[in-house]
Amino acid sequence: MKATCWMGPGKMQVREVPDPMILNQQDCIVKVTSTAICGSDLHLYNGFLPLMEPGDIMGHEFMGEVVDVGRDVRNVRVGDRVVVPFPIACGQCGPCRAGAYSVCENSNPNAYIAEKMLGHSPSGIFGYSHLTGGFAGGQAEYVRVPFADVGPLKVSDGLTDDQVLFLSDILPTGYMGAEMCNIQPGDTIAVWGCGPVGLFAIASAYLLGAEKVIAIDRFPYRLQMARERAGAITINYEEVDSVPDVLSRT
Ligand SMILES: [Zn+2]
Ligand SMILES: [Zn+2]
Repeated sequence: MKATCWMGPGKMQVREVPDPMILNQQDCIVKVTSTAICGSDLHLYNGFLPLMEPGDIMGHEFMGEVVDVGRDVRNVRVGDRVVVPFPIACGQCGPCRAGAYSVCENSNPNAYIAEKMLGHSPSGIFGYSHLTGGFAGGQAEYVRVPFADVGPLKVSDGLTDDQVLFLSDILPTGYMGAEMCNIQPGDTIAVWGCGPVGLFAIASAYLLGAEKVIAIDRFPYRLQMARERAGAITINYEEVDSVPDVLSRT
């Protein structure tokens, strides 16, 4: 199959690599129909995250069709359309049972290295260096998905890839930011940063009951999207002092 491989800082190549196989009976194999590049991929591209190896397959935001399942997989079948969230989670450990899948204790075989660097290890993550397990990512034709009963989210036929792909990372990331604000009806919410996650945070804040969302950035094209696509009031922090401006509008 073909896959986007990291070959060194600033060097990406589409290469011919072996197709993934079921390695554990809880795995499934997904034939990728849509994938995305994340802002976080820039950390790898620019060489800021250690433990990348030449040939590592990029990508932690992807979806597709299940084409093979291990014997022990119950929740997905061959032919299902799924969106795969980026954290790899076992579903059984203490953090997983508490819903904290991103810190699953059973999916990152290199947790001891990540602990030294970060204090606490994240779960395994697709396409995100050997610090998070060295799992092959989704900017590829096929991906092996461990713990297939836990992560993959089945998608009904009426929805297009574009409508659901962002469930793999940036929509829930933005939503979580808004959710953590404990928004009450009538609240004004300020969102710093109008990249994709910021836009989803703005949309989520309105969904959760915010009356007004103020969005702050310095790039005019992003501020325009925040206004026109997400309905925010915008502030360019290179033109005005953003904090007093926000306070004057609340
Ligand atoms: Zn991402
Ligand atoms: Zn777990």
